[in-house]
Amino acid sequence: MTFRQGGRLDTSGVSAGGRGGRRGIAVGGGVGGLVVVVIALFLGVDPGQFLADPAAPSDRAGSSATTDDLDAHIDQCDLAQANVDTVCRIVATTESLEDVWTTQLPDQVGMRWEQPHTTIFSGGVDTACGAASSDIGPFYCPGDRTVYIDPTFFDSVLVGRLGGPPAGAAQMYVVAHEFGHHLQTMLGDIRRSQQDPRGPSSGAVRVELQADCYAGLWAHYATTTPAPDGGPPLLESLTPADVDAIVRTAEAIGDDHIQRTGGGRVDPRSWTHGSSEMRRQWFLTGYEQGSVGACDTFRAQL
Ligand SMILES: [Zn+2]
Repeated sequence: MTFRQGGRLDTSGVSAGGRGGRRGIAVGGGVGGLVVVVIALFLGVDPGQFLADPAAPSDRAGSSATTDDLDAHIDQCDLAQANVDTVCRIVATTESLEDVWTTQLPDQVGMRWEQPHTTIFSGGVDTACGAASSDIGPFYCPGDRTVYIDPTFFDSVLVGRLGGPPAGAAQMYVVAHEFGHHLQTMLGDIRRSQQDPRGPSSGAVRVELQADCYAGLWAHYATTTPAPDGGPPLLESLTPADVDAIVRTAEAIGDDHIQRTGGGRVDPRSWTHGSSEMRRQWFLTGYEQGSVGACDTFRAQL
């Protein structure tokens, strides 16, 4: 997936985040009557993955970028950089997603798109859902309608630990998946994840597969949706090799593959995101059909 050369990026929807002193994330519980849900990329809502003490130092090597460094990095991003730099690629992808959903949501659902915020962080971050460490992977917090991504996740976990392809398209798919959770929040479907959190045909798995399908929908329109000023689409090309990289990424973050990689046995009863095959299939459904209606995983036979 290649962004067109030349042109500035609007970086106003993306900022750097860090740690302050909030308490750890409360997962699946009530905090003063407020139910907090976090939708993490591949580990579901495992409380053990969240920092109990956000002041504790991260044990992750190489994640020493400060919030100021990251903010400066984000501010200097342009489209040419988005093809070679992970942080700038995330920024440009959020803008491509905004272009597609701003067009498709009114057309297909009759709703106006509200762009979520995106926070790029290093090591750990405070959110309206509490404090989180990078270890949970990219996630979406409905409480502040924000997508959170530590860019080191892609090399260290997705490629390094799970064997996914080192491709820009893989990173863009992950951003698009998290935006899918934002759309589910707008439509009210995201709560189904917490109501039925585990199992191969659970609400949680259906929510995750739908986010994969919405990511596919974005890919379907990404190279043909004009920029808001009527200029050419932000994304110039999406090749069969890109689609293949995304499919292999979807397979890498399937619950069965993660369980096998972790040395455990495959136990569908504990699934929160769906198998490699399910994730591959639902991304492709969105990509091939380009229809919100085709992404109704709640009616589908799983
Ligand atoms: Zn997800």
